[in-house]
Amino acid sequence: MCGIVGYIGGKQASPILIEGLQKLEYRGYDSAGVAIYNDGEIAVQKYKGRLKVLEEHLEKKPIPGSVGIGHTRWATHGEPNDLNAHPHITTDGHIALVHNGIIENYTRLKEWLIEEGKIFKTETDTEVIVHLVDYFYEGDLEKAVRRAIGKMEGAFALGVISKNEPEKIVSVRKDSPLVVGIGKEENFIASDIPALLKHTKEVYFLDDGEMAVLTEKDIAIYDEFGQPVEKEPFTVTWDVSSAEKEGYEHFMMKEIHEQPKAIRDTLSPRLNDRNMVEIEEFNLSREDIQRIDKIMIVACGTAYHAGLIGKFAIEKFAKIPVETDIASEFRYRDPFVNEKTLFIAVSQSGETADTLAALREAKRKGARTMAITNVVGSRVSREADDVYYTWAGPEIAVASTKAYTTQIVAFYTIALDLGLKLGTLKEETYHQIIKELLTFGEKTEALLQYKKDIQFLADAQFNNTSAFYIGRGIDDAVAREGSLKLKEISYIHSEAIAAGELKHGTIALIEDGTLVVALTTQDRLYDKMLSAIKEVKARGAYVIAVAKEGNQDIQKEADAVMSIPDTYDELTPILSVIPLQLLAYYIAVARGCDVDKPKNLAKSVTVE
Ligand code: GLU
Repeated sequence: MCGIVGYIGGKQASPILIEGLQKLEYRGYDSAGVAIYNDGEIAVQKYKGRLKVLEEHLEKKPIPGSVGIGHTRWATHGEPNDLNAHPHITTDGHIALVHNGIIENYTRLKEWLIEEGKIFKTETDTEVIVHLVDYFYEGDLEKAVRRAIGKMEGAFALGVISKNEPEKIVSVRKDSPLVVGIGKEENFIASDIPALLKHTKEVYFLDDGEMAVLTEKDIAIYDEFGQPVEKEPFTVTWDVSSAEKEGYEHFMMKEIHEQPKAIRDTLSPRLNDRNMVEIEEFNLSREDIQRIDKIMIVACGTAYHAGLIGKFAIEKFAKIPVETDIASEFRYRDPFVNEKTLFIAVSQSGETADTLAALREAKRKGARTMAITNVVGSRVSREADDVYYTWAGPEIAVASTKAYTTQIVAFYTIALDLGLKLGTLKEETYHQIIKELLTFGEKTEALLQYKKDIQFLADAQFNNTSAFYIGRGIDDAVAREGSLKLKEISYIHSEAIAAGELKHGTIALIEDGTLVVALTTQDRLYDKMLSAIKEVKARGAYVIAVAKEGNQDIQKEADAVMSIPDTYDELTPILSVIPLQLLAYYIAVARGCDVDKPKNLAKSVTVE
C-alpha cells in the first residue's frame, strides 16, 4: 500500500520523484504529492487523483530543489482528497513527511497532541506523526523521529525532511517496506526496487526499527537503539526493462506472457542434473520430515488459491494432512499448531501484513516455518526459517498472474520432494511428473497462441453483470482464482462455487444468459461436471468450459470451449488458469477498466 520515494543529490528532485512514483503507482493511486526543499523553504504540492494530476500541476508550477520526498497514496484513514494526500507538513512548515502504513494508536495520540496545542487539519492517522516529530524536535531530526516512533503503534515506513537540516533525509520503517538506494553523490529511498532501477542496483534493505539517514554523499544506518549498523548492500539482478511494459498495453498482459519463462526460472534451479528435486533453501532432513504431522499453508487472495493447489499436491504425493487457511482468519482463531507443524506462508510481495502476522503466530507456537515469496529480502522471507523464492521477476499489475503460477510450481516441487523422501510416491511416477513439468514452459507458450479466440469470447460477454465459476477437486481451486481475477479487474460480480454445491443454493441465481465458466479438466470428475453443466444450461446459462485438448464431447455440451494442452490431472492448474486470466483481462479491457490499477485495490497489502 502506498508508494514512497525520496531523493537527495545534485540533480533536480522533482522529475526523479515523479518517475519513481510512476513505478510505484501499483501500490496506491488515489492521490499523490511531493515535498521539496528549496531556498530555505519546503514546498508541497499534493492532489487527489492519479499521479498525472500531480504531474500536470508540477509542469505548470515546477518546484526546484534537489532534496525531496514523494508519495502515492492508498487511503486508509480519511477520504482521498487534496488535504489528506501526503506529504504532510508541520503548521510552521519546517518538517514534512510521507508515510506508508497505519498508526493504530493515532486516536489516543491525537487527543494528547491536541491537548498540547497542536492543530489538526486532516483526517489521516499520518498527521499525528508530523505533530509528534514536531513536538520532539529540538534541532536534531533523527532524535525527534526516534522519539516519535517510540510513541507509535502500528506499521510505518517514513521519509522525513526538515528545512532546518536540509542536507538530509531521515527514513525509518516497521512492518512496512522500504529500501535505500545507494548512488554516487546521490541517494534514494523507495517502497520498492522498481522505483530505483534507473539510478542504481545497489540497495540496503532496512530491518524493522532501523533508521537510515541519507545525505548526498553518505548513508548511515542505525538500529532501534540508535547504534550504528554495518549492512551489506544487496545487488539487484533485474534490469530496467523488467519494470517496463515493453510494448504491451498493460503490465498484466506482459506478465501473463512472461509465465512460460517464469515457470522455467522457478523450476529449473530446483532440479539437479539428474532431474531430481533439490530445494537448496529447504533444509529438512528425512527425519525432520518424518516428524511433521501436519502442514499449514497460510496466505491471502491469489496466494491463498495457490495454497489450495498446494494442499492437493502435498496430500496426493506426500500423504501428509494439509490445511490451507486465510491469513487474516488464521491468526485470530487460536490455530492448532505446534512443533510438529510445518507452516508455509505464501505472499508474492513478502510484505502482506496478515500473512506476516500469521507467520509470527505460527513461530510463536513452535512451528517450523517456510515462506514462498517473489521478493528477495522481503519481511516474510527474512522471518521464516526457510525461503523458497519464486523467480517470476517483478510483478507490477495489481492482479497477480505469473507470481501465482510460479507459487504452484513451488508447491509441486515441495510435494514431489516430500513424497519421494517419505516413500509415498513411486519413483517412476515421480520421474514422470517431473518430465511432464519440464514441458510446461512450452505448453504455456502454446496456450498463449489462442488469446485472440479468448478475446472474441470476452467481447461477447463483457456486458454481463455477474458470473459463476464452477469446478470440482483441484478445478474448484482454479475456479476460485479465475473468479477473483474477473471481479478484481472488471468489477463484474463473480462467484466461484464447487460444482457439487450449486444445487444447494447458488443455482437459484442462474437465469437466461448468466455466464458460467466451468472447469472440466479432471478426467475422474468429468461426468460429474457434465451434470453440473447440464443443470445450469437447463436454466439458461451461457457456459464457457475449460477442457483438455482432444475432448470432443465438451464441444457438444458447452456454448464455448477454451482448451488446454493435455497433461496429468494433478498438474492442470498451471495451464487451466491461463485462459481464465486472459478472459478476465479481455473482459476488463472491453469494459474500459484500468486493468493494472483496479479501483480500491493495491498490490502489496501492508495493512491489516
Ligand atoms: N494511513 C495513511 C493514510 O491513510 C497512509 C496510507 C498509505 O500507506 O498510503 O494516509
